[in-house]
Amino acid sequence: MSDKKVSELFGSMVFNEEVMRQRLSNTCYKAWKKCVTDGASLELETAHEMAAAMKEWAIEKGATHFTHWFQPMTGVTAEKHDSFIAPVDGGRVLMQFSGKELVRGEPDASSFPSGGLRATFEARGYTAWDPTSFAFIKDGSLCIPTVFCSYSGQALDKKTPLLRSMDELSRQAVRVLRLFGDTGVKKVVSQVGPEQEYFLIDKDVFNQREDLILTGRTLFGAKPPKGQELEDHYFGTIKPRVAAYMKELDEELWKLGILAKTKHNEVAPAQHELAPIYADANTAGDHNQLTMEIMKKVAGRHNMVCLLHEKPFAGVNGSGKHDNWSISTDTGVNLFRPGSTPSQNARFLLFLAAFIKGVDEYQEVLRCSVATPGNDHRLGAQEAPPAIISIFLGDELTAIVDSIIQGTEYVEHGKKTLSIGVDSLPHIPQDNTDRNRTSPLAFTGNKFEFRMLGSSQSISGPNVALNTIMAEELSQFADALEKADDFQNALHDLIRDTLKAHQRIIFNGNGYEDAWVEEAERRGLSNLNCTADALKTYLKPQHIALFEKHGVFTKEELTARNEIHLENYCEVIGIEARTMIDMVRKDIFPAVSAYSGDLAGTIAAKKSVVADLPCTAETSLLKKISALLEKVAVQNSQLEALLAGDPGKDAYEAAHYYRYTVFAAMQDLRESVDTLETLVAADYWPIPSYTDLLFSIK
Ligand code: ADP
Ligand code: MG
Repeated sequence: MSDKKVSELFGSMVFNEEVMRQRLSNTCYKAWKKCVTDGASLELETAHEMAAAMKEWAIEKGATHFTHWFQPMTGVTAEKHDSFIAPVDGGRVLMQFSGKELVRGEPDASSFPSGGLRATFEARGYTAWDPTSFAFIKDGSLCIPTVFCSYSGQALDKKTPLLRSMDELSRQAVRVLRLFGDTGVKKVVSQVGPEQEYFLIDKDVFNQREDLILTGRTLFGAKPPKGQELEDHYFGTIKPRVAAYMKELDEELWKLGILAKTKHNEVAPAQHELAPIYADANTAGDHNQLTMEIMKKVAGRHNMVCLLHEKPFAGVNGSGKHDNWSISTDTGVNLFRPGSTPSQNARFLLFLAAFIKGVDEYQEVLRCSVATPGNDHRLGAQEAPPAIISIFLGDELTAIVDSIIQGTEYVEHGKKTLSIGVDSLPHIPQDNTDRNRTSPLAFTGNKFEFRMLGSSQSISGPNVALNTIMAEELSQFADALEKADDFQNALHDLIRDTLKAHQRIIFNGNGYEDAWVEEAERRGLSNLNCTADALKTYLKPQHIALFEKHGVFTKEELTARNEIHLENYCEVIGIEARTMIDMVRKDIFPAVSAYSGDLAGTIAAKKSVVADLPCTAETSLLKKISALLEKVAVQNSQLEALLAGDPGKDAYEAAHYYRYTVFAAMQDLRESVDTLETLVAADYWPIPSYTDLLFSIK
């Protein structure tokens, strides 16, 4: 594709600012712009003009329908399409779309998770246009990004709290910037670039596995002779079939204005990654949801399936999502970029100190933001990153932090004592090469890379957590500094005292080692190994206070969300357990039974020809397999009994029960079945093996 074609294609399905400038009256365009920059609300008149222009544009592009496009608590997006048609005299139709329809919708929302926020008698929620996110066309429908709330205004989605947290972070950061004499900045925006990992497998093998179809991951599967040991896949040559997929995926994403930038093979066989260029957190969130959807859709066209599950294959690297997060001003200054003047450096150190303090104080909030059943197979389970939250700063920055704390000379660079606001910082190389891949939160020169996110989850929650924590610390700093008589001195002391008090959260070593688990415990860091344990901290009073203070969540909203997460956790494990039971009964058991029957038949046949033939090999195999099959039958019944059992008196107990009782029994059952797979002849084994799956794309 030529350069020109790409630039024509890019954003061609988006009603973006350029299109608005061309198609709206000046008054209307300005009203929209004000709405975005100042958070002003949109007059109905403006909405009417906007809707009319959107409709014309969409129809020209072949659209026939419109939908409010929102992000309920299911973690995926929702849409309900209405056509533009309106009947007129003579049995004809006109294409209509009003300002009211643009601005507000009322889907019958009773089946979306609400965690008890919405009783069925008041089932209707409403959706309201988010004018900061552009409308776009997908599958012949004009999609209008919206928030989704209950009638009383409680958030039922992932977008509302994100927008609230972005506003609040902006407010508090601007307060701090004013203290540095910055009067020009009106707004501060969190910027996010999510790197998305995924697996591609052939659709024909996928369709033969009930577990993949129903749960997105393999519930059985013996370790293949070749996995990722050779590390020959990482950044390796991309196979033609995958390359064709990636090319079409890029083009589809570009049409939607998504800045798909980097693509490469990942560590595991069949694993790949896509990274866009970063955007504001709201756009990045919308775009990541769309990216996941388009990834699956395009795979289908290539007779492949895109697996977004965090751990599709046991014993093989899982998939995560790296959330690169920074904050920058509307004047284009990245506040996590070490500056070139003493004043810029002082500002950088203050924002850095705020981040360090926030992460230390709200470790559990961050941990909860990535607690999902799929992610349990990664975090704290011998895979990167660990479940313990810590920050990697790199050697240079750590040395600077140390020297500030101790008031000592920063010797490495031949500097005298670092006096904040007076001295320049030594040069901190961006993207230092010794980047630590095991750290859950790494400073990478001008941003933090939060690496704990699961590949399938919405990035909204983690960014809500990062934004709100940062807003809280900045508000405390602003409170203190606004009162100070001597700003420079107060600033110096604040930075030093903060770093000193929260130094324990900084860790530059190897996060995979057992030694770190012990060390972290000595430091008093939290280590919440699974979702069931993490969610117990969700509603701690200090967490509720944090979110209420900044208007991000009310206590009711948090309680509802916690309920939804707990319920979802139990449901996911429950579905997996039932799928296992079904597969054992319908696929595994009959196959193993048939094979052992044939083995027995062979032994009998051989002996009928030569009576004293030993048949030791067959006999011992038959014994082994039969014994394992007995065990599998017992374990399967046990699992079934556990599912019928009492999970406890409340949602916490239920989550605990599913994790430590049901899931544990699933592991036992899996172990027996996987051993059987290594013993039974390939022709008899009823489902594709790991080798078939992982190397299905030639
Ligand atoms: P790596 O794999 O080396 O971490 P990638 O290039 O795959 O790097 O991804 C880095 C991501 O970080 C990209 O999405 C990029 O746009 C994003 N990014 C770069 N700078 C910033 C920033 N200042 N704020 C937020 N995200 C950023
Ligand atoms: Mg990358």
